Amino acid sequence: MATPVMPATGIYNQPMQDLIQRLLIELGEDPTREGLVKTPNRVDKALRFLTSGYQADIDGMLNGALFSVDYSEMVIVRDIDFYSMCEHHLLPFFGKCHVAYIPNGKVIGLSKIPRLVDIFARRLQLQERMTNQIAETIREKLNPLGVAVVCEGTHLCMSMRGVEKQNSFAVTSAMLGAFRDNARTRSEFLELIRRSGPVPNQSSVVRMTCNDE
Ligand code: ZN
Repeated sequence: MATPVMPATGIYNQPMQDLIQRLLIELGEDPTREGLVKTPNRVDKALRFLTSGYQADIDGMLNGALFSVDYSEMVIVRDIDFYSMCEHHLLPFFGKCHVAYIPNGKVIGLSKIPRLVDIFARRLQLQERMTNQIAETIREKLNPLGVAVVCEGTHLCMSMRGVEKQNSFAVTSAMLGAFRDNARTRSEFLELIRRSGPVPNQSSVVRMTCNDE
């Protein structure tokens, strides 16, 4: 697919590394200078890691981590760090994710929830979609009485490019089952995750994330 841009170097044979070498040239750089010689290889590895969520096996990851219990109080895992890439600009967005559910006979090992967040974050994403995917997957795998996911993210495509508010911060939420139907349950969750940062009241999306300009 990619034609060799600088055949003289002869060190890049993978299509992605050829593309990145070509990108460096398009940006006005000299890909043969010392600091950039290994950049296509590094970027290749970094991008494959940052998008490794596409290959993740969710059922395999959850295998052996679902337990039957007689417990129906809210389970919350808050302040889960996430790092993702905006699909409009291929720039990072990152922040914290808070996940809660109310079991209906089954719970999931607590350490699996951050793993699930990673699987959906390590893709080209929209924060709104990532939030929904985390919630929908927990609903599908656990069939709980309710699921709530709130993500708070800083988008470099907004703050670095200066097209919108410099310190803008996007908050997205997905409320399913009891968290959607019962205001008291929802408030209890929002109270438990409340910190200095903004959290949504009852609207499902406080501010849209990056536009596609
Ligand atoms: Zn963006």
